[in-house]
Amino acid sequence: MTYELLQQLEINRAAFAHNVKTFRSLLKPGCRMMAVVKSNAYGHGLLPVAELAGAAGVDALGVNSLEEGVRLREAGCRLPCIILGYTLRQDLGEAVRLELEPVLYNPESLEQLQREAVRYHRRAVFHLKLETGVHRQGVMEKDMDGFLDLLQRMDRTDLQSVSMHFANIEDTTDHSFARHQLDNFLRLHGRVTARLGRRPALQAACTAAALLFPETHFDMIRTGIGIYGLWPSKETYLSALLLQQHPPVLKPVLSWKTRVAQLKEVPAGEFVGYGCTFRATHALRLAVLPVGYYDGYDRRLSGTGYVLAGGVRAPVLGRVCMNMIMVDVTHVPAVRLEDEVVLLGSQNGDRVSAEDLAGLCHTINYEMVSRLGAHIPRRVV
Ligand SMILES: *Cc1c(COP(=O)(O)O)cnc(C)c1O
Repeated sequence: MTYELLQQLEINRAAFAHNVKTFRSLLKPGCRMMAVVKSNAYGHGLLPVAELAGAAGVDALGVNSLEEGVRLREAGCRLPCIILGYTLRQDLGEAVRLELEPVLYNPESLEQLQREAVRYHRRAVFHLKLETGVHRQGVMEKDMDGFLDLLQRMDRTDLQSVSMHFANIEDTTDHSFARHQLDNFLRLHGRVTARLGRRPALQAACTAAALLFPETHFDMIRTGIGIYGLWPSKETYLSALLLQQHPPVLKPVLSWKTRVAQLKEVPAGEFVGYGCTFRATHALRLAVLPVGYYDGYDRRLSGTGYVLAGGVRAPVLGRVCMNMIMVDVTHVPAVRLEDEVVLLGSQNGDRVSAEDLAGLCHTINYEMVSRLGAHIPRRVV
């Protein structure tokens, strides 16, 4: 039996390929490109995006957790895969077995990785995160020599790259802190090279750094938001405009669509939704849509969001419910029962962007897309 879906996310293959190509064109020969597919590929769907990334020729995938890496391997994905978040020591064996490359910063983890490499008769590749100013993950400078001395005694582990992450590159057009971090990183990398007697690869750039600072590209860039066709922030776009007249064009990959579940006339004076927060000042035609905050339609869009119905904007009336919203279609008589409605994406030349919705929710496009429910079917178009 087949049935139609109440909602779906469409992943645009051509837009994704365009974005990957755009980043590639910024890179020097030999610089590799990681597609960051953590958090269900920023809500776009881990497995479909991993497949598109492979087809688009990325060199590696970046996940947050072992669990995401396992899902990739179980789906047959053979690309190099780096676990950017934390891996429990008890799970490092599974990482070695599946050739998932952890990012390490605790000496305890390195010792465990060595034991697992011995157990699996393998060499275990890993990446070393250095603390350069974000104070998230990373080895502190004062602990670095100790970590490296330990590493010299671990004969089954391969340090493939040292990495850093920028703290303040998306949120400002003042990049002095980013430069300060970069200086730290280069200095620390110099010390690693001197102590080990060889030069590990360097990895630093997220999307904003990749777009704005070619000197951060080094051996591999780690691009997340940009490959989904979204700019990290207004400030990043502005910085790109200041640096070059024609910043790269990124194409949004995702559209979110649903269908009209009911149409009704609401007389003047009647209320709409929980809490009676909206009251009709005049007779309305209202459409009920089968999506809500459970699906990732943020409750902060209550009374502020809008969708595209019949090719024009239809405002959300009253509160967003768990599985429903109500929108005003008084001005679009053409809208019929079960017509397609666009929650994110374009219709008839107008567009609802992740940035528009993020602005209404006082958050960033990253959160808007990454919180789209994992249960919503993703379809590559
Ligand atoms: C998420 C993440 C990225 C990707 O950042 P974007 O701004 O989405 O490009 C890169 N590196 C690390 C360590 C991350 O956690």
